[in-house]
Amino acid sequence: MYIGRFAPSPTGPLHAGSLVAALASWLDARAHGGQWLVRIEDVDSTRCLPGMDQTILQQLAAFGLHSDQPLRYQSRRARPYQQALEQLIASGHAYPCGCSRRDIELALQHSGQLKARHGELVYPGTCRHGLHGKPARAWRFRTDTQPPLHWQDRRLGDQSQDVAAEVGDFILKRADGCFAYQLAVVVDDAAQGITDVVRGEDLADNTARQILLQRALHLPTPRYLHTPLVLGPNGEKLSKQNGARALDTQHPLAALNHAAAVLGLTEQHEPADALANWVAQWQYLYNHAP
Ligand code: GLU
Repeated sequence: MYIGRFAPSPTGPLHAGSLVAALASWLDARAHGGQWLVRIEDVDSTRCLPGMDQTILQQLAAFGLHSDQPLRYQSRRARPYQQALEQLIASGHAYPCGCSRRDIELALQHSGQLKARHGELVYPGTCRHGLHGKPARAWRFRTDTQPPLHWQDRRLGDQSQDVAAEVGDFILKRADGCFAYQLAVVVDDAAQGITDVVRGEDLADNTARQILLQRALHLPTPRYLHTPLVLGPNGEKLSKQNGARALDTQHPLAALNHAAAVLGLTEQHEPADALANWVAQWQYLYNHAP
């Protein structure tokens, strides 16, 4: 049984880029005769805006996209995330870290390796073997014992990442007590029986970390398909951070046609049949019908 999902973070309204991921995940679910779930990824409460979940659901409804099951909110799932963290601690995959960002910068400067990756520092492993008398601030996943990871993307093909070298020991639970996206998404995808993750290509880079977590927690790995990004006038990918405009729900077919074009689907003129026509095209293009 196919189960897919769309997992928006309520940090801003959906924009043209988010609709591509939403539409693609919905079409893939329908093309497989499966279910499509909506999950509100509000695990990072510091970035979420009140009421934005409702705005997003109204936007999706305007495009004819409705969750096949009751919504799930990450903010209500601290207990399973904590259980997963404890499982990782018990199996030696997670360890406490007492470093502040400044400590990490200093350690990296010292070893001549100060390089940021998307603004994130590659953690040098300072607390891997003990806290050196510092109080624990956060929990990290140990990557130095992991070989480079290879995985298949249904659109991008062969992918690989050496997580230890390129990302380093990543955060599972932050100093402010917030669980990290990587842990929450892996626990939720498994708990909801997600068989296929269809999401924007900007998230492809997280997949190797998520597969490492799935393996460490003995959870199944879903299939992955990362969709093309929508670029703004400046050539940068649209994002809530760079102020992408909210989708125009007054003209849903125009917005859907735009998203469909990004996915290589043809323009539709009748709102009533648009989604059904695209399901047929999707089945043909991605050739993954049951
Ligand atoms: N919540 C993430 C976002 O809005 C998506 C996570 C995912 O699809 O894995 O960017």
